[in-house]
Amino acid sequence: MTEQEKNSGQDQEQNTDTAEGKQSFWESLRSVCHVARVIFRLDKWNIPSFVGDQFFMTLQPFVGLFFSARILDALFAGADRDVVIRWILAAVACNYGVYLAERLMGCLSRLEGITLYWQLYQEMSRVMMRADYKELEKPDIRQSKERIERATNMFWYGPWEVPGVFMRLVEGLTITISALVLAFPIFLPVKGEKIPWGMLGMLLFIGVSVWYSLSSEKKLYKMKEDSLDPLARVYRKQDFFEAYAGENKAAKDIRLFGQKNLIFRLMEQNIKEEQRIVDARRFRQAKSFGIRGALAQAVGCLAYLIVGARALAGIFGIGSVVQYVGAIMKLSEGIRVLIYAVQHITMQGPHCQEYLDFIGEGEDAKKYCHEQDGQKTLEAPEDYTIVFDHVSFRYPGNEEWVLKDLNITLKRGEHFAVVGMNGSGKTTFIKLLCRLYEPEKGRILFNGTDIREFKHEDYQKLFAVVFQDFQVFALPLGENIAASRHYDDKRVEACLEQAGVGEFAKSLPKGLEQPLYTVETDGINISGGEAQKIAIARALYKDAPFVILDEPTAALDPIAEAEVYAGFQGMVREKGAIYISHRLSSCRFCDKIAVFHEGRLVQLGTHEELLKSEEGKYHELWQAQAQYYQRSNPAC
Ligand code: ADP
Repeated sequence: MTEQEKNSGQDQEQNTDTAEGKQSFWESLRSVCHVARVIFRLDKWNIPSFVGDQFFMTLQPFVGLFFSARILDALFAGADRDVVIRWILAAVACNYGVYLAERLMGCLSRLEGITLYWQLYQEMSRVMMRADYKELEKPDIRQSKERIERATNMFWYGPWEVPGVFMRLVEGLTITISALVLAFPIFLPVKGEKIPWGMLGMLLFIGVSVWYSLSSEKKLYKMKEDSLDPLARVYRKQDFFEAYAGENKAAKDIRLFGQKNLIFRLMEQNIKEEQRIVDARRFRQAKSFGIRGALAQAVGCLAYLIVGARALAGIFGIGSVVQYVGAIMKLSEGIRVLIYAVQHITMQGPHCQEYLDFIGEGEDAKKYCHEQDGQKTLEAPEDYTIVFDHVSFRYPGNEEWVLKDLNITLKRGEHFAVVGMNGSGKTTFIKLLCRLYEPEKGRILFNGTDIREFKHEDYQKLFAVVFQDFQVFALPLGENIAASRHYDDKRVEACLEQAGVGEFAKSLPKGLEQPLYTVETDGINISGGEAQKIAIARALYKDAPFVILDEPTAALDPIAEAEVYAGFQGMVREKGAIYISHRLSSCRFCDKIAVFHEGRLVQLGTHEELLKSEEGKYHELWQAQAQYYQRSNPAC
């Protein structure tokens, strides 16, 4: 785990994982409906399919109840055999019809479970890839994305749950309405009864049952909300321990520092903490469900008494007894599911809103894209000059100027080295040159035109950069080099050859179609050195007019690095090139060396010219490195 990863872990520690701000029920409902619209755009059948499926599934027992009652009534009333058979056939036909409808609805959606999750997630990836680069270096966008992901991974909260929310709502409504329709006659007063005491008593019990369900569900919901932050902390720790225990990089430390027992103990402690939090909620839940069950049974008991008494008085047939009692029992369940659905909406709403805020809509969709794109198109010209004209820059939100009044001219065919101490602004200079950031003061001119006037995409096509933290994709080798599914085999092979991995590529079982890394079952792992050369081959394949190596060779020893740089120099002789390294010896072959110090360009010249100036920064750096290498390797 790198220092940076550890720090980001600490940053997260200070952030809650729950969606910020509470919403009222109506606000939550609006957010949930808004997400439903997003899902509808992705697949118009998704929500109708889930909801329809749930509706017909919930309806089935009521169809059974209704027809069972009719058949029993017919049998006890001594009806004709034909009448009974007709009821039976109608029951079978209706049951089958409902079953078919349920199956049919279930088949309509293309997006289910993980596919829906991926589609919605893809919308977030789109935002990340479209955002201005500078936005990605701010914590906000990453923290927001992490919160959304964590809410899903830990509690299954978020937009992917919206079909489930509608399913619960439809289930609750279907049960409640069907139960009321089937039980309706028992709410009517019977002849000679002035005050329907039985009915009033039952309504009272139903009212108490609903009130208790509501208030206990509210308390349970509050408990769940309160447990989210402590649980998030526990989960985050566990994720860290698990990743650390399984990480190759940590394996040496675990063994040499005897960390095994400590890690086990910490994991055990964490598991106990998780159990403690979850158990507190579980006991409360069990108690609440027990009382709700008892109240539901009391309602059922009253229903039996009332319906039974009326059946004995000859008011209802035996079939109706089955229907009414069954329906009343279902009524409690329906109300319980409805209450749960309402709570579910309140819980999901803020998380849905956080997702909606992230992906944005209309103008809001551009909230991470502030940079004005230029209008001018730009074809790579034969000849070009890039001028930094009094450029100053500081990172957004920082006081400190990182580049100060920088003036430098870069030309086609001229090879520059940029050297300087760590933090002197070398990489920032490259980021500005490639227009990942824009200067706060001054201008960067390309053949006399401010680069902001060009279309972003056109301008960035001018550069092929191999950064220190270059990324090689888990894709086939050829696609990796071309950054495309389609590529010119011969040219890819030539670039691999030039980058020094021609033989390696030929030795691969599938040649250019060989998947890299083991994401694919037939993928192969490659070494750091091979990855670095593949990244260089990719830069060569792009055949951009300007190439930049920003210390991609930091893992190599000085001699190997000097070889890579000198080799690269030969490959891109005709182009403009910039090399960054803190090892000055790697760059001595360059046409010009720019020395950066504390954000300023303090010297510019050839290696020999700069060495002559004994007071200069370059001489100081050169001496320091020479002494270091002589001390560490007296043979040098
Ligand atoms: P170099 O490449 O010479 O090591 P950099 O250009 O990477 O230097 O960094 C110059 C200064 O800018 C350093 O002080 C560094 O901490 C700061 N810096 C770099 N990136 C960022 C960033 N994304 N946000 C804020 N400060 C940054």
